[in-house]
Amino acid sequence: MNNRLTIAIQKKGRLFDQSTDLIKKSGINFSTKGDNLLAKSNNLPIDILFVRSDDIPSLVSNGDADLAIVGENVLIEKSLFKRTYIEKIIDLGFSKCRLSFAAPKNNKIKSFNNMKIATSYPNTVKKYLKDNNINASVTNIHGSVELTPYIGMSDIICDLVSSGATLEANNLKEIEVILQSQAVLIKNKNLNNEKEKIADKVISRMQGVVNAIESKYVMLNVDASKVKDICKLLPGSESPTIIPLEDSKKVAIHALCQEPIFWETMEKLKAKGASSILVMPVEKILN
Ligand code: ATP
Repeated sequence: MNNRLTIAIQKKGRLFDQSTDLIKKSGINFSTKGDNLLAKSNNLPIDILFVRSDDIPSLVSNGDADLAIVGENVLIEKSLFKRTYIEKIIDLGFSKCRLSFAAPKNNKIKSFNNMKIATSYPNTVKKYLKDNNINASVTNIHGSVELTPYIGMSDIICDLVSSGATLEANNLKEIEVILQSQAVLIKNKNLNNEKEKIADKVISRMQGVVNAIESKYVMLNVDASKVKDICKLLPGSESPTIIPLEDSKKVAIHALCQEPIFWETMEKLKAKGASSILVMPVEKILN
């Protein structure tokens, strides 16, 4: 029996770069040549499958892939109205977007009742309509959804939005958000013991990379009498290290802060008497 773990990721598109980056930062070495759809890791029993993101939920549910990185919007769309064998494991924090209704700017929408809605997410939209007792028709279209109100195919659309620039360029306004999404790590629920062990290692490493993204290592010097005040200002730090300095009135504080450190925080630290404030990125955290 082949016990190599398979991880499916999008073969090209918005998720590709950050998915491969996360895999590499998790210490899984692999190289790809041209249009290869499969890459074998040379340091762990892991194969990477490059597929369309639309296919990822069914590949994982059927056990053809063991782990995968996919947009939560796709996971939800493909999991509605059927039984799947997928577990969501980690919110990965990248490819953030929302699924929203939008209409031509000059269209004054009071209710979605009796509207024609075009979308690439028909299941998610139908569920939203049902949950909100709205009677409207849904047309499924893959791509160029923004065009459909202008050719009479729809009154409104429901599509992914991140900055809103595509809606703006097509003279559309966002009316209502129905789903917030980001890339997620998913897993087949029925892995055998061998694969489960490799999956656990991958998951813990990926979690370590994700935890580190927002984390910063902060070092500063301050009068020993101010330690309590300074520690209160360090966001998300558990138990800072206090180190004596040659000047016996002063100490150095080192802290792992699991939240971003903004200039405002640094200015407050300085105002409380901290000096030589260093904020450094963290690459990986193993808890
Ligand atoms: P496939 O791989 O099946 O061809 P796709 O054509 O939807 O999928 P992309 O357009 O690359 O591929 O989008 C991949 C994912 O990126 C989306 O499912 C979504 O999770 C995320 N995403 C983030 N921002 C946006 C956005 N503004 N528009 C579309 N997708 C976005």
